[in-house]
Amino acid sequence: MIEIKENVKLAPYTSWLIGGSADYLCFPTNVDELKEAWLWALKQKLSVTFMGGGTNVLIADKGIRGLTISLRKFSSVQVLEEKNEIHIHCLSGTAKSEILKVFLKYQLPAALFLAGLPGDVGGGIVMNAGVSEPFVPKEFGEIVHSFTVLRRLDNSFEEVEFQHSELNWQYRHCNGWQPGVIIKAKLKYSSNKDSEILKKVKEANRNRLSKQPLDMPSCGSVFINPPGHRAAQLIQSCGLKGQRIGEAEVSQKHCNFIVNLGQATAQDTWDLMMKVQSTVFQQTGVQMQTEVVRLGDW
Ligand SMILES: Cc1cc2nc3c(=O)[nH]c(=O)nc-3n(C[C@H](O)[C@H](O)[C@H](O)COP(=O)(O)OP(=O)(O)OC[C@H]3O[C@@H](n4cnc5c(N)ncnc54)[C@H](O)[C@@H]3O)c2cc1C
Repeated sequence: MIEIKENVKLAPYTSWLIGGSADYLCFPTNVDELKEAWLWALKQKLSVTFMGGGTNVLIADKGIRGLTISLRKFSSVQVLEEKNEIHIHCLSGTAKSEILKVFLKYQLPAALFLAGLPGDVGGGIVMNAGVSEPFVPKEFGEIVHSFTVLRRLDNSFEEVEFQHSELNWQYRHCNGWQPGVIIKAKLKYSSNKDSEILKKVKEANRNRLSKQPLDMPSCGSVFINPPGHRAAQLIQSCGLKGQRIGEAEVSQKHCNFIVNLGQATAQDTWDLMMKVQSTVFQQTGVQMQTEVVRLGDW
């Protein structure tokens, strides 16, 4: 039987280290446990919230009502070599870093963009996570062959498989599979090797470390780059570098990151994001959209 914990602080399960408690929290390790937890919530008439690696979410200070299902233990990887391709079958809670290890083992260029992405495979699909550098590939959608979504139908479930071509892969968003939760993914990439890949990954990591505040709690970029603009540059040009509300600060190193100086609340962080958004709009006329997903009781 899956263990369901009551009144659990969620901040430690987020990269921002921010947010209140879940009324109930569980960590399924396989599809049967996930279904069991979901049915339990249904019987108690509780809402259900899914969380991957927690690297792109801002959880309310009041926490999340109902059952939060964390997918961080919902992990497995199987690698198949087929003709000129590597196929990776995984559960959606598999950390991207586990997939990175496979690409590095086979010396595949896809390692380069994955090295910059924290979180899980499912979160990578939902957000169509990617990097701004001109790498090939550079977005999650480019390595996804298909994935399976679990949906609840009254007291039962259905599993629906989506092929890459059936989905609408947009900048930092994948549409066309909702509702439900992504449970499994099949990733595919050509097995053309790049013997220099490890060197390139190390160089890209050094470059990222020099430009991003990776030593501080954050969720990466908080705004999507508006067409024709870089959000970080817009924010910096408006004199917002180092702006603070409470202990939430526009990073001194990368203006599209908001860092938690220690005791930032979700409300501080959100208020700072809104201040940045409105100041940039007033000064430049560019309306920035948030990349971060707000969860819980706001
Ligand atoms: C230091 C740092 C650097 C970053 N750099 C980048 C970057 O360069 N590019 C980039 O794109 N992102 C970046 N991010 C943001 C983040 O890592 C990605 O968006 C990541 O893909 C989110 O995955 P996650 O598993 O953490 O998702 P979460 O944050 O847990 O969830 C994100 C959303 O997806 C939903 N979700 C998660 N898993 C599932 C699932 N299996 N089924 C259905 N819904 C689900 C959640 O409910 C939530 O709405 C960065 C974050 C950090 C902390």
